[in-house]
Amino acid sequence: MQHLNIAPDNHVKVLGGQGWVGLIDHLGTETTIVNAARVSFGRLKEKMDYRDITLLEYLIENKHTSPLEHVVFTFSVHCPLFVRGQWHRHRTWSFNEISRRYTEVDLEFYTPPSIRAQSENNRQASVANSTLDRPELKQKISDHNMKSLALYEELLAAGVCREQARGVLPQNMMVTFWGTVDLNNLLHFLDLRDSEHAQWEIREYAAAIKKLIKPIIPNVAKYFESKGQIW
Ligand SMILES: Cc1cc2nc3c(=O)[nH]c(=O)nc-3n(C[C@H](O)[C@H](O)[C@H](O)COP(=O)(O)OP(=O)(O)OC[C@H]3O[C@@H](n4cnc5c(N)ncnc54)[C@H](O)[C@@H]3O)c2cc1C
Repeated sequence: MQHLNIAPDNHVKVLGGQGWVGLIDHLGTETTIVNAARVSFGRLKEKMDYRDITLLEYLIENKHTSPLEHVVFTFSVHCPLFVRGQWHRHRTWSFNEISRRYTEVDLEFYTPPSIRAQSENNRQASVANSTLDRPELKQKISDHNMKSLALYEELLAAGVCREQARGVLPQNMMVTFWGTVDLNNLLHFLDLRDSEHAQWEIREYAAAIKKLIKPIIPNVAKYFESKGQIW
């Protein structure tokens, strides 16, 4: 049996190798989308032709989105707690996660590969800053992660239950969850999270998801590339 904290075969590493997102499974293809759009005519096709690609583009362009909902993806995500918090705001996903009420093994913590400064004109944004990106600050973050872990282990050793002891673990704790979403809502997620408005860390995951799904939906990816997006 494979442990959930191990990346599946088809995965992309992010956050300087500390996190990853993997494609566990998917249902449907671009042919499913055009077939769903044509259900009203009672005709099914097995292969896409150029007219289907035009139809696919028309559906996206005109926000005729329900045919896209027939394609579904399941991802396995290994990310810091604060990224998981942002991800869970997307109510159209279904989630399951390792519970720290059940296990205290395999605890890992994120240390940012580079440290950014607070943006001066946007309260929720950050900016690259070479003078701030110093090894000793990263070391302090890493040390703090380890101190939290030591306290957690001390509490467990004293007999404190896992569900209370976990309260001392920091936002940098890595968690692993499965997330399932249909293509329409995934495109919405990618639009919001692979954006310059999104935090760098979650943006890494969104960009990685694009790489994972591009071979399954190449013409959808081409459509967005034609609009100037990077896939
Ligand atoms: C850059 C950025 C900054 C953010 N900053 C903050 C912040 O400071 N504070 C904060 O609290 N949140 C913040 N958020 C989270 C944001 O408000 C959304 O909760 C999150 O992006 C999920 O978007 P969504 O609701 O469209 O997605 P989903 O929940 O996946 O929903 C997809 C779509 O389904 C429809 N839908 C889903 N549920 C409902 C419903 N109950 N009723 C009606 N329609 C529904 C909507 O059309 C929605 O757009 C931020 C998000 C981003 C991308």
